[in-house]
This record gives sequence, C-alpha cells and structure tokens, in this order.
Amino acid sequence: MEKVKVGIVGYGNLGKGVQAAVKQNDDIELVGVFTRRPVDTVDVNEEGVKVVNTDDAEEYTDQIDVMLLCGGSATDLPVQGPKFAAMFNTVDSYDNHEEIPDYYSEIDKVAQENGTTSAISIGWDPGLFSMNRMVEEAILPAGNGYTFWGEGVSQGHSDAVRRVDGVKDAVQYTIPKEDAIEQVRAGENPDLATKDKHIRECYIVAEEGADKEEIKEEIVTMPNYFEDYETTIHFVSQTELDENHSAMPHGGFVMRSSKTGEDKENNQIIEFSLKLDSNPEFTASVLVAYARAIHKLSEEGVTGAKTVFDIPLSYLSPKSSAELRKELL
Ligand code: NDP
Repeated sequence: MEKVKVGIVGYGNLGKGVQAAVKQNDDIELVGVFTRRPVDTVDVNEEGVKVVNTDDAEEYTDQIDVMLLCGGSATDLPVQGPKFAAMFNTVDSYDNHEEIPDYYSEIDKVAQENGTTSAISIGWDPGLFSMNRMVEEAILPAGNGYTFWGEGVSQGHSDAVRRVDGVKDAVQYTIPKEDAIEQVRAGENPDLATKDKHIRECYIVAEEGADKEEIKEEIVTMPNYFEDYETTIHFVSQTELDENHSAMPHGGFVMRSSKTGEDKENNQIIEFSLKLDSNPEFTASVLVAYARAIHKLSEEGVTGAKTVFDIPLSYLSPKSSAELRKELL
C-alpha cells in the first residue's frame, strides 16, 4: 500500500507532536518539515526528513499529499492557511472560534480555485468537541449543552498574566468547577455562564522587589480575563515553576442533558471527556488522522474547505469499511 506523504509547516509544539504522531501510523510518511527560520537552525532529529524553508515549498507540490499546518492561530494561520491551500491539500488547527466562518470562506475560495482540499479547525476544541456538541444537539434537541475546559494550561491567560508589571513568568490553569459538573450529571439543567463553570489558578514568579499585593489586585480585576472569575494566585520560585508547571496538560467535557418521556420523567445525559497530559501531542494526533481523510477526499476529486462536520468518520481510519463494520460496529 502506498503511504500518504505529509509535510509539517511550522516546527513548534504542535509540529513536533505531528512528527511523533506520524511514527504511530504505518500508512503515513513524513517527507519534510517547512519552517520560516534558517534551515540550519532547525534540527528535526530524524533521518530522511528534509528541513525546507517555507519560501521553497512550491518545489514540493509533487512530493507531498497533505501539508499539516502547525503555526499559531493568531498570526501564522491567517497568512499560511490561504498560502498553502493554493498549493497543497492542507489540515490546520485554526482555533479562533469567532473568526472561523470568515477563515472557512477564505480557505474554501482558495481551495476551490486551485483544486485542493483543506480540513480547517481540526483538533479537540475546535474539533472533536465541536463534533460531539453537534451530535449531542442533533440527538437531544430539547436539552441543554455544556462545555467545560480543563484542568489545563490556558496559553492566552498565561500570556495575559505575564504582561502584568512585576511578573517575571507565569502559568494559568483553567479548572472546571466540580459542583457545576455534578449539577449537569444530576439532570438539573442549570443555566451556567462560563464563569460559573470554571475557576482560574495562577502560578507566578514575581520580579525582585515587586509588590505582590499590587500584582494580585491587577490580575483578579483584569477585565475579560479574570474579573468575573474565582481566581487563586500562588507566588512561586522560577525553579518551582520550571519543575512543576512546564507540562502542557489539558482536557475537558462536552455534555448534554435532556428530559424525554411523556412527562419528561427520564433524564438523558451524554458526556464526552478528554484528559490530556500533552495538549499539543494529542491535537497533533487528531491532525494526522484528518490528513488521511483529506487525502481520501482529494483522491475522490472533492475540493474546498471542510470541517469535522463535513468529513465522513470512516475516512479517519486506515481500515476499510468492511473491516470497520466487522470490528467496531
Ligand atoms: P508554538 O508557539 O510552539 O509554535 C508556533 C510557531 O512558532 C511554529 O509553527 C514555528 O514556526 C514557530 N516557532 C516555534 N518554536 C520556535 C522557536 N524556538 N523559535 C522561533 N520560532 C519558533 O505553538 P504551538 O505549536 O503550541 O500551537 C500552535 C497552534 O495550535 C495554536 O496557536 C493553536 O491555534 C493550535 N491548537 C489548536 C488546538 C485545537 O484543539 N484545535 C489545541 C491546541 C493548539 P516556524 O517553524 O516557521 O518558525
């Protein structure tokens, strides 16, 4: 069987995760890593894998079936998404939820014009969580849906804390409130705002001589980020932060609660959860399965942008439909 040949664009946490995930999939082969940095400064530590500058990517259109775009959503993907969709089939993890409809339209136009296929906003949220929100709502339209995130590191909130005067380094964890989860599990159908569902915990290294009370006050009153939340602050040393808070765990729950029956006497609760030691390694594993699916769609002549809602589930698997019916149905 011929392997699906993939490339990685952007060699950060996610790019490294894709490199590791490819090794766990026998039908997929990594051809090259594409970076904006000088190629001699990036060591991918794998024989047979080329390191190429993104400016030279065009030379590889015949050698790569699907490019996995691993740049950041804030500034990399808005540029790299359309640029690469014009040349390659792509999979990306664009996670700026509010901007996804516009991003979809842009990628769809480029992909249609160039005869390529692009899976956008793949990962766990957006991605597997979106898929579960959709399925749960379709099955139980009369219910309420809930998404809880964590326990995990929020990069956006960690960055916001690091920008506070007197803060040298910081990590912010988002933690789901157990009592809120229990209310949903009990079928109480509570009305919960995001702030009712999560607490925020910050581990902070203060600069020498900084006023810790002032730092604390500025953080807990920060509009949008912390003001509406229950926030706990811990001051720690740089050594403690490095030793105990440098991993990237995450996860969460997508739940739906509904009542069925003539007198609405039966609780129906659906729960999908993830508990991830490494957010980027898991997200990368999702991207790789979708690279396989996009290759199949492209071989069938399908073009344009696709999301998790549009891609047949069986296309994620290396197994045939007959094998799936026999083994997993
Ligand atoms: P990183 O900051 O690690 O990497 C982003 C880019 O920065 C890389 O592609 C790389 O590009 C560049 N870079 C990385 N390391 C260095 C370095 N040492 N020096 C200079 N440049 C560097 O981001 P992540 O990989 O952690 O995350 C990427 C995106 O993944 C996030 O922005 C988010 O959008 C998405 N994501 C989506 C999820 C989902 O569920 N949908 C879940 C988790 C993440 P280059 O090689 O070209 O320099």
